Amino acid sequence: MLPSFEPYVADHAGVYLQAFAALPAAAKYGFAVVFGLVIGSFLTVVVHRLPIMLERAWRAEIEATDAKDAHSEHDPHERPLPVRYNLAVPRSGCPHCGHTLRAWENIPVVSFVLLRGRCAKCGAPVSPRYPLIELATALFAAASLYAFGPDWLALAAFGLCATLLAMSLIDFDTKYLPDSLTLPLLWAGLIINLGDGGFAPLRDAVIGAIAGYLFLWCVYWIFRLVRGVEGMGYGDFKLLAALGAWLGWMALPQILMVSAIAGALVGLIATWRKRMRFEEPLPFGPFLAIGGALTLFFGTPLYALFG
Ligand SMILES: [Zn+2]
Repeated sequence: MLPSFEPYVADHAGVYLQAFAALPAAAKYGFAVVFGLVIGSFLTVVVHRLPIMLERAWRAEIEATDAKDAHSEHDPHERPLPVRYNLAVPRSGCPHCGHTLRAWENIPVVSFVLLRGRCAKCGAPVSPRYPLIELATALFAAASLYAFGPDWLALAAFGLCATLLAMSLIDFDTKYLPDSLTLPLLWAGLIINLGDGGFAPLRDAVIGAIAGYLFLWCVYWIFRLVRGVEGMGYGDFKLLAALGAWLGWMALPQILMVSAIAGALVGLIATWRKRMRFEEPLPFGPFLAIGGALTLFFGTPLYALFG
């Protein structure tokens, strides 16, 4: 038990929550959408830069251990990156001409519409992916507010959605789910469920984290031993563990079912359209994320049976 500190925080945080709850609905949703757009703008940076940052760190490690091999790995045509490169530095710019975005060109969605999807300096087209990520994030913010009301749980739900979105895109681009996203997400789920009034009782959350990891780990090894194929990566196990930590073990069967069906459908469509070889593995992370988000917002019948 925490001493007097906890009610103090609860009271003072509660004042802001009450003030927010007292706002008219239009203001609440307006705030959620603007907040979502701003976070979405940050997510576009994370999705683009985090894999590059990880690859740099990985290369630096290889170079430190085996300098000779690492040099042959470099692509001579690659645009050199500045020495300091992280989520804050350098400022965003046009990949075509290097033009640094001015403040107004950084406004989510609005600047894309005003510039008609082109760089202000050289006119090179800007990928519609950026405003789409921003809009999707804003939609998640509004949906979280709608589903959980003006409550801290809504903010937590939005945090989960935003992280799932960023992870899905990174997995889709690189077929890799970074530990720097999956592991903090797992811890965050356990912390959210520490007290009463989380998404799942702490007991279910802990069992969910363990069961989520172990289940996919077993599937992976069975496939590997029986058929000699690697369908998934360890990042997928960690992501399902994180979803178990957030939503409890009872959410896992539904998450797995939704992701398996969605993955099979997309796989079939991709095979049919691109004549893709069937063995080519699809990234599984985005489908787990879809299953997790659906369960977050719509629950699972298992809660009604056992909850
Ligand atoms: Zn440009």
